[in-house]
Amino acid sequence: MNPFSTLGIRHDIVNAITELGFENPTPIQEQSIPVLLSGSNDFVGLAQTGTGKTAAFGLPLLELLDFEENYPQALILCPTRELCLQITSDINNYAKNMKNVHVVAVYGGANISDQLRQIKRGVQIVVATPGRMLDIINRKAIDFSQVQFVVLDEADEMLNMGFQEDIDSILSTTPEDKKTWLFSATMPTEVRRIAKKYMTDPFELTMGTKNTGNVNIEHEYYIVKARDKYAAFKRIVDFNPEIFGIVFCRTKIETQEIAESLMKDGYNADALHGDLSQQQRDKVMKRYRDRSLQLLIATDVAARGIDVNDVTHVINYSLPDEIENYTHRSGRTGRAGKTGISIAIINSKELGKIRHIERSIGKQFTKAEIPTGFDVCEKQLFAMIHKVHNVEVNEEQIEQYIPRIMDEFKDLDKEAIIKRFASLEFNRFLEYYSKAPDLNVSSDDRGYERTERGDRAERGDRAFKSSTSPGYTRLFMNLGSVDDFTRGDMLGFICNNTKISGKSVGKIDLKGVFTFFEVEESAVNQVIEGFKSVDFQGRDVRIELAGDREGGSSERGGSYRGSGGGGGRREGGSGGGYRGGSGSGGGRREGGSGGGGFRDFSGKRREDRGGSSSAGGRREGGSGERRRRI
Ligand code: AMP
Repeated sequence: MNPFSTLGIRHDIVNAITELGFENPTPIQEQSIPVLLSGSNDFVGLAQTGTGKTAAFGLPLLELLDFEENYPQALILCPTRELCLQITSDINNYAKNMKNVHVVAVYGGANISDQLRQIKRGVQIVVATPGRMLDIINRKAIDFSQVQFVVLDEADEMLNMGFQEDIDSILSTTPEDKKTWLFSATMPTEVRRIAKKYMTDPFELTMGTKNTGNVNIEHEYYIVKARDKYAAFKRIVDFNPEIFGIVFCRTKIETQEIAESLMKDGYNADALHGDLSQQQRDKVMKRYRDRSLQLLIATDVAARGIDVNDVTHVINYSLPDEIENYTHRSGRTGRAGKTGISIAIINSKELGKIRHIERSIGKQFTKAEIPTGFDVCEKQLFAMIHKVHNVEVNEEQIEQYIPRIMDEFKDLDKEAIIKRFASLEFNRFLEYYSKAPDLNVSSDDRGYERTERGDRAERGDRAFKSSTSPGYTRLFMNLGSVDDFTRGDMLGFICNNTKISGKSVGKIDLKGVFTFFEVEESAVNQVIEGFKSVDFQGRDVRIELAGDREGGSSERGGSYRGSGGGGGRREGGSGGGYRGGSGSGGGRREGGSGGGGFRDFSGKRREDRGGSSSAGGRREGGSGERRRRI
């Protein structure tokens, strides 16, 4: 018998969750489901994300509500739109075999009329972010007078985000005798206070000790000099060829810059921060979930509620200002019974902060060493060898080529073939790392010798500088395809804002969050000047000479990542490294002058914004949502 049945869950739900792979309840499910199923307790559960808490409250709700009636009976409040959608989809999945279950997701940044329509049609479970929920309540579009259960999910995050008042107002519209179930990863005084305020004698469940980081997570720190931080970070990434990570930065600017540098250096990375529109964030998240991104570079606020499974590493590129945030960050890995590693890259002055975090999470960090160039090469080489070993051979398709391949190799023995094959992919990496300096700060902090060449190599890194057409200069712009530009749009954008002729623009190479484009040498200054005070949807448009950004060592480096069969994670073709200007995007655009007929992508002059520097900043979460900006 499926252990969920023993806990009191009915068959059609058990069947549905078995299909989702839930064979055994997680500890929080095991302990909370029997309590919650009684329907007679308030409840406080101290649990990290990833522990299975959605099912811990979702399954009992499905057992307790009356789905023959079509009025709201349960309200689940959570901090972010992403979590809201996730909970809604999870509950719908659990209820897949049940009839007439209506769950509606209510969140900001989306069309309110659709949500109102769904509510009007009849709903038993409302999953909502507080801002939009209050908006709907104020429109008198929902009746919570018969709500029996309120779930406050990730209560600490909701309070962090300033939703306290909204929660108060929302709960005041629900009946006195409803039951409240509160889940929180941490239990700061504010959460204690709301627990006290809304609950009578709650059943308390603590998974792990108070404020303890997830037991499945190992914590490591690396000490480096500030100027080596980026290089050290990339070594760590290169040393973990299968990394699927979230990298936390402290500010939006740092987030954007690290993401841009990584993309330029050939990694599948992108940024998630509060300056992106909801649509842009959705796109980035989709790519991350689909694993076409390997590294997600994020701020704390933007990463709230991200619940992607199988994140292997959380990297604290900068430590958070508040220790609580370290717990939130590291909780993105080690989910659902998996193990994970949380890494902090620090300078020696930040050791005190690490000790502080250790005390707070009740776990020790391990001091780790930045891998040497040799270590990285070895690791990458064997990762590739294992891939070769495990690759699925399409016998049927490859068969037709085998005789010719055999013929090509007829004068080479097995060892020679293997050597050549490994070298083919490996030489660039080896060369790149051959002079790589030691980046560890030794304990006496006397520094280390480094070679000029090694230094340069690491900075220039994997960039494959693409060749610029003769007579043209290659420029960088911090907008790209995620901003919904096509190459035509981009041409129009450039011409409209700089008044140069379309004929002066060469190859336009549209990337995720940035673009490389060529302009005739004589037009470079006009373009740089022309964009000086332009903004696009609230973001300053930045133009730089691509040479400045593409680093020094150009052709060197380059990993074999991305060369086919890379586990489906990496985009792009062979050679790794930034593949700017190659094949796909490079072709000079057809005809067209000046940008007439293009979509209106004209930026705004900053002075047009009435001088208010913050006016351009988009509010996260769209209408109705109040978020702390970073
Ligand atoms: P949650 O903490 O609710 O976000 O759950 C984290 C992940 O664990 C989700 O992907 C769930 O689908 C998964 N999960 C939850 N409960 C179980 C279970 N009993 N067995 C296997 N996976 C689970």
